[in-house]
Amino acid sequence: MAMEARRRVRPPFKACRVCHALVPKEATRCPYCGSTDLTEEWEGLVVLIKPEESSITDKLPFEAKRPGRYALIVS
Ligand SMILES: [Zn+2]
Repeated sequence: MAMEARRRVRPPFKACRVCHALVPKEATRCPYCGSTDLTEEWEGLVVLIKPEESSITDKLPFEAKRPGRYALIVS
């Protein structure tokens, strides 16, 4: 049985530069907005369960309309 040798520092996601959604690393297109502008250079994972009921979305530097994982900072 193989053991995982090293923990990834960063979760295996890419971030959409347009809507900040996090998508699987193998994805080529953002499922939220359809953009293909994805980057592995992002920081800060935000998970939104019910964005419409959460006051935290007012404080985020991007517009989060749907539940999901988002990157706080995309470079
Ligand atoms: Zn997007």
